Amino acid sequence: MIALVDVNNFYVSCERLFNKRIQNKPVVVLSNNDGCIISRSDEAKKIGIKMGMPFFKAKKLITEHNVTVYSSNYPLYADLSGRVMNFLNQYSVDQEVYSIDECFLKLNQQEYLDYGYSIRYEVFKNLGLPVCVGIGKTKTLAKLANYIAKKYNVYEGVVSFEGPYRKDLEQIMIETSISNLWGVGGRLTKKINELGIYSIWELKLANPKWIKQLFGINIERMVYELNGVSCYPVTSKKLPQKQIICSRSFGQKIRDFKSMADALITFVQKASLKLRTQGLQTNQVFIFIRNNRFAEKRLIENSITMRCEYYTNDSRILNRLVIEGLKKIYKNDIDYHKAGIILGNLKESFGVNYDYSKEVAESKLIDTLDAINRKYAKDMIVSGWQNKNPLWGMKQLNKSKRYTTSWNELLEVG
Ligand SMILES: [Mg+2]
Repeated sequence: MIALVDVNNFYVSCERLFNKRIQNKPVVVLSNNDGCIISRSDEAKKIGIKMGMPFFKAKKLITEHNVTVYSSNYPLYADLSGRVMNFLNQYSVDQEVYSIDECFLKLNQQEYLDYGYSIRYEVFKNLGLPVCVGIGKTKTLAKLANYIAKKYNVYEGVVSFEGPYRKDLEQIMIETSISNLWGVGGRLTKKINELGIYSIWELKLANPKWIKQLFGINIERMVYELNGVSCYPVTSKKLPQKQIICSRSFGQKIRDFKSMADALITFVQKASLKLRTQGLQTNQVFIFIRNNRFAEKRLIENSITMRCEYYTNDSRILNRLVIEGLKKIYKNDIDYHKAGIILGNLKESFGVNYDYSKEVAESKLIDTLDAINRKYAKDMIVSGWQNKNPLWGMKQLNKSKRYTTSWNELLEVG
């Protein structure tokens, strides 16, 4: 049996954890640069705020209903996500983290439903975050069970296809559109509808071979999965990452070399820390800078790949490469809107490819820097290129504090 555990309205729930005044009130969280709505409380859903709605279009509803608005606070969400995943790990040897707020767990227990309720209860008690649990023989069924658990309050957040209310679930499958299935988007829904298949129940009863001829193997598998035949196992092993990307659209245009260098170096710091924490090295950095295609009516993008003669995860070496590369592609009189770096050719950092004594000394230095930054503050020691309060920082007017990852931003009570 497979369980899908998913935090309800994750970003909003993270914000509520630190602000008791917004319980049971409409709350939304915005995307980077305060662009669109990416998380909504149930109350916000009820008044008609849609997922992905541009902020400016929702403004009227927001003022009318006194909705609390947050800019996204990824350090907070990422930290809480890590806590949830670590906590859930105890419930299964096979855990597949599927997104920032959901994971699949392989269950060996007999009392699935009780187990589901205890997961929900314990996560709330220990971490303060509400989750729903969906249980079924396959990932598709677990996903569907989770959807039902969220939508129908009578189940109190836990639905199992092996539970005592099989008949009710059949009825729900008869009444629910296939568009609510895992991996079925609007266009696919339309195409399947043309065959006279509208409900999940109808798709479950369809002939898999016929479906395969029309839509290919993935939809055939979906039919099997709906019938309890597992086609997608829970894979707990993480595949090694092929590249590390760090890029961003700027809050305001960049028009000078120094600010651009500052931005790129900040990306290098982030990406190389990721490299080191995952035990990886790279010998290749791809750098790109571009203007705003929509505002300027034409895209100007310059990029370059810089190679290092050996594998490294030393941010100073990567900094030098990036500045060298930037000097080659940077042009004056362009309003830069976005930039990024991609570390490619990753490999595990076993063995050495160049002067051993030098590497040991340098890796000690970098380890020390990481340790200091971990202990005191994320940006306690930074590269000389970096500006601590950059102009290009994101537009985030309503950001909450980093309550769980910064000593200076702890929740104050009193
Ligand atoms: Mg969720």
